[in-house]
Amino acid sequence: MHSVTLIKGDGIGPSIMNEAVKIINASGAKINWEETHAGLGAFQLFNTPIPEETLQSIDRTRLAFKGPLTTPIGAGFRSINVALRQKYDLYANVRPAKSWKGVSTRFENVDIVIVRENTEGLYAGLEHYLTPKKDIAESIAVVTRLASERIMDYAFKYAQDNQRKKVTVCHKANILKYSQGLFLDVARETAARYPNIELDEKIIDAACMHMVMNPQQFDVVVATNMFGDILSDLTAGLVGGLGLIAGANIGKDAALFEAVHGSAPDITGQNKANPTAVIMAGVMMLHHLGEHDAANSIQTAVEKVVEEGVNVTPDLNPNTKAGTVEMGNAIVAAMV
Ligand code: NAD
Repeated sequence: MHSVTLIKGDGIGPSIMNEAVKIINASGAKINWEETHAGLGAFQLFNTPIPEETLQSIDRTRLAFKGPLTTPIGAGFRSINVALRQKYDLYANVRPAKSWKGVSTRFENVDIVIVRENTEGLYAGLEHYLTPKKDIAESIAVVTRLASERIMDYAFKYAQDNQRKKVTVCHKANILKYSQGLFLDVARETAARYPNIELDEKIIDAACMHMVMNPQQFDVVVATNMFGDILSDLTAGLVGGLGLIAGANIGKDAALFEAVHGSAPDITGQNKANPTAVIMAGVMMLHHLGEHDAANSIQTAVEKVVEEGVNVTPDLNPNTKAGTVEMGNAIVAAMV
């Protein structure tokens, strides 16, 4: 039995997480869910976006399965996602984007894994105003050798372990010579230790152009925090949208699994949210736990339902009569 902290989250979170939990429970994996709260909903209920009880649960389980959390724009509390990644030192954010059979997109055969540094860079949270009038603001991008080395090592080892051939480092070392320069130096040093994996260097703006013109040239991609965040929404768009893309946040002794997308306020409460991204996050979590049979059985069922294109949400088929719940039920029914 594996204990997992369950945070259903805000907006579309509870509806898609209910489907994911139902499917994981039906897969045969033995999970003891510890349900807790975080995000805007927790703030409204408990006056804090991250109650102590939630942290105590993750301290115990070292494993969280999380729905999207709303972060107020501008004023309000800081991102709980960023806070959790920093608190548990979840330094590697792994976001695979692979073409799906049955999902029509501009490109076929896309298979890109974004490995994003998850604890520092421009999301280090070091921001302040320089004047009392608050008319000059400063955000500091922190890049350390330690964090660069461990994320590069993660990316190259991931490539090696998953029979991949190339790691593209996306950077801006031509302008940000110190911070991005350090990241690029470490990429070159790490590549020298993995002679079977090709190192490809691309300046981030050019990388975006290449990615939307010829995405098949990319394999594993590694970037600092904000570039990796932006690139993973881009890759989601290449393979059918945010409703399909999952992410793992991995640390030395803790891990958190979630969708790449947010709480989608524009479709909340309409039974329209695609549960696939959080279900695939569940698949990544089951592999992490060594529950490979359960993970494979869910993945096969999801692929079947997506390919059939009938019991799917409107982002996958505009003529569908099905929604979040019907898609979840169809996936359970497709599991053998
Ligand atoms: P979003 O990802 O919530 O939505 C972007 C677009 O994608 C919307 O049109 C939405 O309807 C669509 N979309 C997202 N998930 C979908 C799904 N499962 N099925 C179908 N369509 C889906 O991004 P946003 O609107 O910029 O952010 C909303 C909130 O989510 C913000 O408060 C933001 O901070 C938060 N957010 C949280 C996370 C997280 O918890 N990891 C990630 C990103 C954004």
